[in-house]
Amino acid sequence: MTKTLILGIDSLDPYVLSDHKAVLPNFARLMHESPTLLSRSVFPVDTIPAWASINTGLRPGNHGLLYVYDIFDPNLSDLQKLNFDYLKGKTYWDYLSAEGFRCVIVFPSLMYPPWDVNGVMVGISPIERRIDWISTELELDACPKTAMAKHAIPHTLRGLWGSFPGIKHLGDWATLGKEVVDAEKQIAMSLCRNEDWDLFFAYFNILDVIQHRLWRFFDERDPTYPGSTAFEGTILDYYKTVDGFVGEFVDAFPDASMIVLSDHGHHSRPARTVNVNEFLRARGHVTTKGDRSKALSLVRKSVLELSTRLNVEHVLIRVLANSERLAKAGKSVYSSVGSIDRTKSRAFLSNFAGIKSYPFGGVEINRELVSDREYDLLRNALIAELSELGTRDGFSVMKWVKTREDVDNGEFSDRMYPDILFELADGYGVGWEVHSDLYGKATDHSVASGGHNKDAVLLLRNIEKEVKDKAPSIINVTPSILDLYGIDCNEKRLDGKSIF
Ligand SMILES: [Zn+2]
Repeated sequence: MTKTLILGIDSLDPYVLSDHKAVLPNFARLMHESPTLLSRSVFPVDTIPAWASINTGLRPGNHGLLYVYDIFDPNLSDLQKLNFDYLKGKTYWDYLSAEGFRCVIVFPSLMYPPWDVNGVMVGISPIERRIDWISTELELDACPKTAMAKHAIPHTLRGLWGSFPGIKHLGDWATLGKEVVDAEKQIAMSLCRNEDWDLFFAYFNILDVIQHRLWRFFDERDPTYPGSTAFEGTILDYYKTVDGFVGEFVDAFPDASMIVLSDHGHHSRPARTVNVNEFLRARGHVTTKGDRSKALSLVRKSVLELSTRLNVEHVLIRVLANSERLAKAGKSVYSSVGSIDRTKSRAFLSNFAGIKSYPFGGVEINRELVSDREYDLLRNALIAELSELGTRDGFSVMKWVKTREDVDNGEFSDRMYPDILFELADGYGVGWEVHSDLYGKATDHSVASGGHNKDAVLLLRNIEKEVKDKAPSIINVTPSILDLYGIDCNEKRLDGKSIF
């Protein structure tokens, strides 16, 4: 019978693996043996929609799970409102459980509290309690409960705070991450060695947290690369740690089939921005709140520029972490939402993908002001206008601009996405200024220099089936796993297809 061991490593980047395989011997061996390396993430390229797609085989529009981590929600208060319950029964391990296969599932992203499976499911809470400026405390739980004592699993685990800890604490923070991931790996390894399983899965998120904060110290091509510092080797050090424990799992079960995968890769977050609301304002679609908004936008711009120059964004983050009210106010000032009169604007930049300078975004059409008859006309006109938005050198700044239905026409698409979606050219991110230049600089780069890349990793080992789709989407993972166990996907109405 097929015995499959799956390791999910958030933000494991295919290009970092290829560039550094000389010091990553276990990944080098896997890459040599695997018929695949690359896979493609979902839109928007973010951890929560991506893992929900990997685990269910559904496009984001059909699983409906979208939450984007951003600096204006350091306490994850919006995350706490998300309900994951309806995904119960829709993951590949639920389908395998129902067919009598034994599944051991450790720390699946967001799937908390754990639920009944044919085997053991150990969950880690996505809601963290902050202890200090570098660490958090996370709750653990298992189904069945007896697994906690059997594997000496503690009820809480120390975690690494996801926000920028401040340059003074960066060293301690980077050291703590090693302890955190080691504790998680030991729990996963204990379950892997001591439980019976047909399918084992463990998930680790440490590379994502580390790369977001330290990317600019690692990547010489980053425009804010400071030269050689104490942190230049930290990201690669974490890749070596992960390489080490991937090797331990291979050595412990050399005959098992193995899948090592990520939800997306990592690269430098765009340092240049395009102020889409300013573009819309200049064309009469966005209305601002009069002269006050011009003054406000100047204040915002100088505060952000000053904090970038003085390297004190972490102070801003700390203030926000201590006050939900301030965090909300900060979000609206930062994103210009405060200076835009939404009741009078026909279309404006959407914050569905977070208030950050990411290369993808969307435009919301105000249905209070736009009639059904006008809607299609306006939407098509906006798509045409945005498509022509060029860079200073005359190149198009848009990779693509589409209606939401053209991107992902799913059950939840209306609720999740704004009317128009787009992706910007490489190196450009969404900017939020109005009454400003059309182009600007990303003000969040020094606290979050790393961003998600849509190229993800899919490595296979000891799998007897022939791979037909060698650069698949991550939504093909669930149907491929079901295929390995001979389970028919047809009636499950998945969006993905088996790669075999
Ligand atoms: Zn991720």
